[in-house]
Amino acid sequence: MDKNKELISIVLPVFNEEAGIETTIDTLEKFAANQPQNFEIIFVDDGSQDNSVKLIEKNQESNQNIRLIQFSRNFGHQLAITAGIRYTKGDAVVVMDADLQDPPAVIVDMIDKWHQGFDVVYGKRLSRDGESFFKKTTASLFYRVLKRMTSVNIPLDTGDFRLMDKQVVHQLRRMNEADPFVRGMVSWVGFKQTAVTYERQERIAGTSKYPLRKMVRLAMDGITSFSSFPLQIANWLGSLSIVFGIGYLIASLFTTMDTIHFAVFALFLMVGITLLTIGMLGSYLYRVFEASRKRPLYIVSKTVGFRPSRDPESQ
Ligand code: UDP
Ligand code: MG
Repeated sequence: MDKNKELISIVLPVFNEEAGIETTIDTLEKFAANQPQNFEIIFVDDGSQDNSVKLIEKNQESNQNIRLIQFSRNFGHQLAITAGIRYTKGDAVVVMDADLQDPPAVIVDMIDKWHQGFDVVYGKRLSRDGESFFKKTTASLFYRVLKRMTSVNIPLDTGDFRLMDKQVVHQLRRMNEADPFVRGMVSWVGFKQTAVTYERQERIAGTSKYPLRKMVRLAMDGITSFSSFPLQIANWLGSLSIVFGIGYLIASLFTTMDTIHFAVFALFLMVGITLLTIGMLGSYLYRVFEASRKRPLYIVSKTVGFRPSRDPESQ
């Protein structure tokens, strides 16, 4: 296709980003103006309680390529991305943070790879600036543990910053998962995927909107939607415990042991294992429960800059 006729949609989830949103808009406008392609910039407001929406609307008045989807409350980063992707019209869709941690210049490399025939080009982080030691190590550990647990090839050190061809986007639109783990779903979809590497920047303003609570939830969603490994742990621990019990029985025939101490130790161990496995079961069951409820995944209270035909909700 002629480069000048291509449309690239950029999707940016926004949650209380008033401190930096205008810099982001400015930077993206300048970036888009220098590219041969056409761009639409879609902000998904995930229930911000600050002036983010007002600032986006103000800028939208002078730039018709800016669009806004506003949620009725905070539904979470992954659902904001899901909604944004559904509203896109581009030949390719780029998802990125609204805090410029993902540098727009990398989009040029992504488009290059896309032109070479790749359907998904994900941004792989070489380094992460301005993030705590705790965040870096837990994130790194999570990606590695998840990789070992799943059969889907989810790339290491890769967030949601990526470019997707419209046929991948079409497949994602068909998936209607409660508590989606979008980067896993993109891997699951398949097609030709590749990486571009980049240095993750410090956020331009404000603080991270991902407290530990949300990080743990994301990690759990990733694991429970892509792996049954934790469910198998119960089998292994159960078997181990039986072997252990029989071993103890045999040993007790030949030796004398401080039984009280041993009983307390065994009790804690067994209660721990049992509760842990029930908890794991519960997490999976909750996913089933959520999926069976068939509620809409998110609620859009307002859109700006879309023609009515673009609203996937009304189709
Ligand atoms: N975000 C969102 N909903 C949330 C939390 C975050 O839409 O509940 C947005 C946020 O505004 C940002 C992106 O998701 O554009 C990533 O969040 P953040 O930058 O805070 O995460 P971090 O980069 O620190 O992991
Ligand atoms: Mg960020």
